[in-house]
Amino acid sequence: MLHRLRAGTAAPAGESPVTHVRREPARPGRKTPWPGWVAPALISAYADLGITGPWEHQAAAATLAHHKSHVVVATGTASGKSMAYQMPALTKLLGDSRATVLYLSPTKALAADQSRALARLGLDGVRPATYDGDTPREEREWIRQHSRFVLTNPDMLHHALLPGHARWGTFLRRLEYVVIDECHAYRGVFGSHVAHVLRRLRRLTARYGGDPTFILASATSGEPGDAASRLTGLPVTPVTEDASPRGAVTFVLWEPPLLPPSPDDEVELPPVRRSALRETADLLTDAVVAGVRTLAFVRSRRGAEVVAAMTRRGLDEAVPGLGDRVAAYRAGYLKEDRRAIERALLSGELLALASTNALELGVDLVGLDAVLICGYPGTRASLWQQAGRAGRAGGEALAVLVARDDPLDTYLVHHPEALFGRPVEATVMDPANPYVLGPQLCCAASEAPLTEPDLELFGGEPAREAVAALTASGALRRRPSGWYWTHRGRPAVDLRGTGGAPVSVVESATGRLLGTVDQGSSHVMLHAGAVYLHQGVSHVVDDLDLDDAVALVHAAEPDWSTHARDVTDLSVVSVRERVDAGPVGLFLGEVDVTNQVVSYQRRRIGSGEVIDTRPLDLPPRELRTVAVWFTVSPRLLAASGVQPPDVPGALHAAEHAAIGLLPLMATCDRWDIGGLSTANHQDTEAPTVFVYDGHPGGAGFAERAYATASAWLSATREAIASCGCETGCPSCVQSPKCGNGNNPLDRNGAIAVLDAVLSALADRN
Ligand SMILES: [Zn+2]
Ligand SMILES: [Zn+2]
Repeated sequence: MLHRLRAGTAAPAGESPVTHVRREPARPGRKTPWPGWVAPALISAYADLGITGPWEHQAAAATLAHHKSHVVVATGTASGKSMAYQMPALTKLLGDSRATVLYLSPTKALAADQSRALARLGLDGVRPATYDGDTPREEREWIRQHSRFVLTNPDMLHHALLPGHARWGTFLRRLEYVVIDECHAYRGVFGSHVAHVLRRLRRLTARYGGDPTFILASATSGEPGDAASRLTGLPVTPVTEDASPRGAVTFVLWEPPLLPPSPDDEVELPPVRRSALRETADLLTDAVVAGVRTLAFVRSRRGAEVVAAMTRRGLDEAVPGLGDRVAAYRAGYLKEDRRAIERALLSGELLALASTNALELGVDLVGLDAVLICGYPGTRASLWQQAGRAGRAGGEALAVLVARDDPLDTYLVHHPEALFGRPVEATVMDPANPYVLGPQLCCAASEAPLTEPDLELFGGEPAREAVAALTASGALRRRPSGWYWTHRGRPAVDLRGTGGAPVSVVESATGRLLGTVDQGSSHVMLHAGAVYLHQGVSHVVDDLDLDDAVALVHAAEPDWSTHARDVTDLSVVSVRERVDAGPVGLFLGEVDVTNQVVSYQRRRIGSGEVIDTRPLDLPPRELRTVAVWFTVSPRLLAASGVQPPDVPGALHAAEHAAIGLLPLMATCDRWDIGGLSTANHQDTEAPTVFVYDGHPGGAGFAERAYATASAWLSATREAIASCGCETGCPSCVQSPKCGNGNNPLDRNGAIAVLDAVLSALADRN
């Protein structure tokens, strides 16, 4: 199928873009009889839908939950995780006419899908209802009083349900199950917030006399039991053996070829690969011509639109009208439109879709002939989830990962062992982050006074310290019966916030709100003069008003792009942990980072030629966060062949690549992380490379980097050493977000630095 797919497209002779092929054989499903405790009415409702019995993993998880063990089922895409929670929850509701169930999903769309699935079962008296920001006021009252299966999201729980708990008292007293779907989505700062929202739910439920069992569903993830325990604060039993059937899938790793150097380049530019978007569009074109039903995953909305447009154009050139069989698919489309597109793809009317990530997709979209993944989606977990859309029972399917021109993608297509046969990443979060814990304790206190035993629930010692600080600052007041929230209103806490109010992007001429950008990124993305893309339309920023958190823009298509330049300063506040390896030190600790965007470059689109550099007048931003860093003595550097003038470039190159590879170890994005390298740092008094969490208080990424330092830095070294370039390129040591214009960078020096660090760390162990 692959050769047919690729027939007729322009890979240069002699160089195959395929770096690895792996065939996953078909797997038969393993069914089991209905567990004896499942309600007969439920069994017959399933039978009406053609379901004759559960897969083994569904029965195992359901039975644990039925016996009141908290459980997480972590299996592949379309393995039927819903039935694992439906069996115990619906059996309970059918057997006890007062019992209630609360279901949480990270997106409204998924909750709506699940609600429809429950309604299709047609069970009397369950009355499933979605309760979210769109639910009309008059319906809310009905839902509180009558629904016994409420489907909502953590934001709604945080903003509405928990603050208004008095009106939910009866529901909470009778609460038997809490279902947390797609729980791998709760990671980083958002995950840490949700962990506390769940603790607040547990505390209030207990006050009303409820004692629910938690059932979590996760995509395949590393250590799902531990992650679920951290999220809920409860012991959770994992069920991970997937017993659902799967068709055979051939998995291909694909590296777009290098473009030939342009003869009229005056300076020698680093080699550039063909873009992953163009390559994906070509593959998608071939797929449609061959009649293969294909879904292409593209990371950005704009990317998805671009791939669909390029594919349509290519097809219409070949056969006029054929382009109509391709569509783009992303969030922001109306629900009806999305459903129509899904139906058209399943019926074969549409042959190809270019789409953004899996969570935005309807749950039923599986059984395709081929899946193209344009750029590594950031984690092995989401890679398998996306690839899992390919494969029909009895048929052969194809999944292709098309590498982008960056260090992580390049590393992965040349190191298939880093993808295949390895456990997927653990979901990382840090509920002890003081920037999350403090505000969450205020929310809890505003719902009901905090007591001494409550502090155990919220994390013990860190919670006691946070409450003491909040009491000292006057946010909480200590009384004999507990700590009280002293203010009139509710604490303003945004679960998805990353520090400060988001900046609104407004069109000057019309006053139309185009979107928002979080404050942390606003200086880089929305400074005056910046070219800002919104849903594929290019805008230029007229003014960034930081006091009102508004950026005024106008639509324009200049033939340059803009690149912010910044200066970063970092000071060490405290060291939490350290490894002393002689001339090398490895540290984890708190740092203060000051970052100031000082100017921007305008670069010609296409050639990358720098037109000019313009100064900016933006205030510095301060961030207290968690960092991992290593130091290397100047003497060891010299002994490793890195001479003093080359030290800054060598450290800088190592820093870039290390940031690029960290997502291999933790579920983060390179944009979640920052770095700083210097030949002599005032606090460490040595050549140092820092890598820090880009969120106030840290999100667990630097901690993960510290814990896996040898594996992480080895992969970094490998990524640079195995790159085909000579002096450093976007595939190894260049970074798209460098505030220094990727200067200086010393590729070979970086390898020497990393070798020195790794061997010192190894000698110590
Ligand atoms: Zn390179
Ligand atoms: Zn840099």
